Amino acid sequence: MKSPQQIWEIALGEIQTQITKVNYTTWLKDTTGVRYQDKVFVIGTPNAFIAEWLENRLQSLIKKTLANIIGEPVSIEFSVNSTVKRQARTSMQSTYADGGTSSKTIKFSAMPNTNSRYTFGNFISGECNRLAYAASLEVSENPGHVYNPLFIYGDTGLGKTHLILAIGHAAKAAGYNVLYTSAEQITSEFVSALKSNSTDAFHSRYRNAEYLLIDDFQFLSGKVQTQECFYHIFNELYEKNCQIVVTSDCPPTAIGSLESRLRSRMQGGLIADLKSPDEETRLTILKTKAQQSKVSVSDEVLNLISTQFYHNVRELEGGLNRVLTFAKLSGAQLNIKTATKALSDLISRELHQEKLITPEKIIGAVACRYELSSYALVGKRRDRKTALARHMAMYLLREQNNYPFSEIGKIFGGRDHTTVLHGCEKIAYEASINPQIARSIDELKQSLGIKMID
Ligand code: ADP
Ligand code: MG
Repeated sequence: MKSPQQIWEIALGEIQTQITKVNYTTWLKDTTGVRYQDKVFVIGTPNAFIAEWLENRLQSLIKKTLANIIGEPVSIEFSVNSTVKRQARTSMQSTYADGGTSSKTIKFSAMPNTNSRYTFGNFISGECNRLAYAASLEVSENPGHVYNPLFIYGDTGLGKTHLILAIGHAAKAAGYNVLYTSAEQITSEFVSALKSNSTDAFHSRYRNAEYLLIDDFQFLSGKVQTQECFYHIFNELYEKNCQIVVTSDCPPTAIGSLESRLRSRMQGGLIADLKSPDEETRLTILKTKAQQSKVSVSDEVLNLISTQFYHNVRELEGGLNRVLTFAKLSGAQLNIKTATKALSDLISRELHQEKLITPEKIIGAVACRYELSSYALVGKRRDRKTALARHMAMYLLREQNNYPFSEIGKIFGGRDHTTVLHGCEKIAYEASINPQIARSIDELKQSLGIKMID
């Protein structure tokens, strides 16, 4: 009998292939399988609005998927968890509604206590990540001396969060005081502290850290006051030999609107990148994950999956899950024929989607809705309405066509990958709290002839 978490991981693998990457990352990535009892499956979510979104938008897909895996109809319930990683999203604030932020108080995060799978033991090292892996191991054993700060960067799904949490778990197990947070959370806490006149208290929270781990540092881009405050925290901790580890989706030089003294601090330690997994690493990852699922998968099948998903480890895992689930649900033998069928369904669906809507069509539809010209959307204007429309078009392009952020950036007049990423994240978040934005997305999709999931 599988544990609720194992069932949920299989379900996630299947659901991942049916929704867009942005939706998966925003809404499902940090969920867990908590309990299965009396035909009720309880899903753990980082916060209430993710639970609400999943309930409203994906309920039927989740129920159907779970029922197929478990073999009987199930109802679902959500339980809101309170580990650190999960608080990160609560901290994201609306920027369109009032141009400012709401004043929710967010507890400062310590390392999650749970038995995380994000450990060094579960991280496969290879050509693509050797330096980042070795440096991470080193700083987890020897803080504040060798590489400080350690700056790890790489595209999404390449293991940044895995590595930084692995450092945290190892350091915590060795008895160090570890603080793990994200730049998004730091910003949000700082804004709350400003509002309640408690910036000193904000600052002092960091004082006793022996490890400060900051995930997704690129989010500090453009947050001038937070950067200023963080610079002082950085200096104080650095002087005390606190080990600082930072992850980002690009190197310090490519983070837009970052104060030069903070940029130069980030460049002062070791910068290590994570590249797309090479063939050998992809195969080792697949073999390890297949073993963990206790399913025997032939090399031929693993090779096939490895050649289909070569950019990103998250997608690689998704491909394996897809094949395992497909074989399980169809009762077919797990051979190359079954695997090809499982994957070709997926690939042809993506191709079909890509054929369906061109960037011009999406930009045109969005421009029309907001009474702007397509030219304005790809141009330099930065007023609120144009920015919203531009982000909306970026979001739809990403969601429907799965274009890389950098590719979307090129379409929008040479904007960089981080700008597009933020635009997409903003819209995903806005849609969850602002019914008007959610309605606009639905109506735009309808006008573009995009089928909705539920
Ligand atoms: P990022 O933070 O860079 O977007 P994550 O750390 O969330 O990526 O990794 C995405 C998924 O891929 C996670 O499930 C993670 O465990 C897995 N993963 C990434 N790199 C590796 C690796 N080298 N070995 C094993 N699993 C990996
Ligand atoms: Mg991450």
